[in-house]
Amino acid sequence: MSDVLDCIVVGGGPGGLTAATYLARYRRRVRVFDNGLTRAGWIPRSRNCPGFPQGVGGDELLQRMRDQARKFGVDTIAAEVTALHRDGDGFLIRHGDDELRARCVILATGCEDVAPDVDGLDQAIDCGAIRMCPICDAFEAIDTTIAVHGPADKSASHARFLRTYSSNVALVPSTTDGIDDNIRAGLARDGVELTPVPSSLSFDGQRCVFEFDGRARAFDVLYPTLGLISRSSLAVGAGADCDEEGALIVDAHQMTSIEGLYAIGDVVSALNQISVATGHAAIAATDVHNRLGANFA
Ligand SMILES: Cc1cc2nc3c(=O)[nH]c(=O)nc-3n(C[C@H](O)[C@H](O)[C@H](O)COP(=O)(O)OP(=O)(O)OC[C@H]3O[C@@H](n4cnc5c(N)ncnc54)[C@H](O)[C@@H]3O)c2cc1C
Repeated sequence: MSDVLDCIVVGGGPGGLTAATYLARYRRRVRVFDNGLTRAGWIPRSRNCPGFPQGVGGDELLQRMRDQARKFGVDTIAAEVTALHRDGDGFLIRHGDDELRARCVILATGCEDVAPDVDGLDQAIDCGAIRMCPICDAFEAIDTTIAVHGPADKSASHARFLRTYSSNVALVPSTTDGIDDNIRAGLARDGVELTPVPSSLSFDGQRCVFEFDGRARAFDVLYPTLGLISRSSLAVGAGADCDEEGALIVDAHQMTSIEGLYAIGDVVSALNQISVATGHAAIAATDVHNRLGANFA
C-alpha cells in the first residue's frame, strides 16, 4: 500500500472530526492531527446544537464525535502540524521530526478567542458570566444586564444584536479609539448605553464587575469582543488567500485558492458555529472524494 494518504485533516474539533468520519465512510485513507485546543472544549452547554433538545456540553459532544470517527477507523494523532508544503500533486506535512504525505489536506484548525485578562476566566465561562458568542447563547441571557466589551467600532453591532434579548445592554469600550459621533448616535438610537473606558475588570464568582473612576458596576453577562485570531498560518504560509482578519477564503466546495487544499469551520471566513463547521466538513470531504477519483471495492 502506498505511504501517501488520501487526505490529512489538521484539527480535531467538530469540523475536522466530521470531515474525517465522512472520508472514512467514503473508504478513504485519512488521518487527523490535533493539538487539543478546540474552542468547543470551552462550551459549558450548547443549546443550539442540532439533535440535543436538552443541550450538550462541549466535552461530551467532542467525545461522541471522536467515538464516531474511531468507529469507522479514523486515526487521530495528538500532535501539532508545524509545516505544510506542496509536494508534487499533493502535500507534505511536518509534525515533530516526522513527515507525512497526502493527496489532499483539509484544514480545520479553528480560531482563538482574545479573552479578557481576568482572574477566574474559566469559572466565569463555565457559569455563563462570560459568554464568547452571542449567536450561540444570547437566548440564555434574556432580560439580564449585559455588557459588551471591546473596541467600540467593532463592538457596536454586537451590542445592537443583543438588544433582541435585553433592554439593559451597555457597550463598555476597551479604548477610546474609534468612538465617534456616528457610533454614539447609532447606540443611542438603539437604546444601548455607552460607558466610559473602565479602569479594571474582575469576576466576583457570579458576575463580572467593571470599575469606573472608583465606582464598581456589576453585569450579569459579559460578552468580550476583543477579537479572534484565525489559525490560518499553515495555509497562508503555503500561499492560500485570506481576508483582512486572516480567515481563509474558500470556494463553494470549501477549497482554498490552492488546488487540493481545503478549509472548514472557524478558520474560514464564515459564521463560527458547530453546525456551520460540520456542514463545511460534509461539503469538503465529498469534494475530496470526487477529486481523488475511483476507489472501487
Ligand atoms: C465559550 C464558547 C461557547 C460556544 N458555544 C457554541 C454553541 O453553543 N453553539 C455553536 O454552534 N458554537 C458554539 N461555539 C463556537 C464553536 O465552539 C466553534 O464554532 C467550533 O468549535 C468550531 O469548530 P472547528 O472544528 O472549526 O474548530 P475548533 O473546535 O476550534 O477545533 C480546531 C482544532 O484544531 C486544532 N489545531 C489548530 N492548529 C493545529 C495544528 N497546526 N496542528 C494540529 N492541530 C491544530 C486545535 O487545537 C483544535 O483542537 C462556542 C465557542 C465558545 C468559545
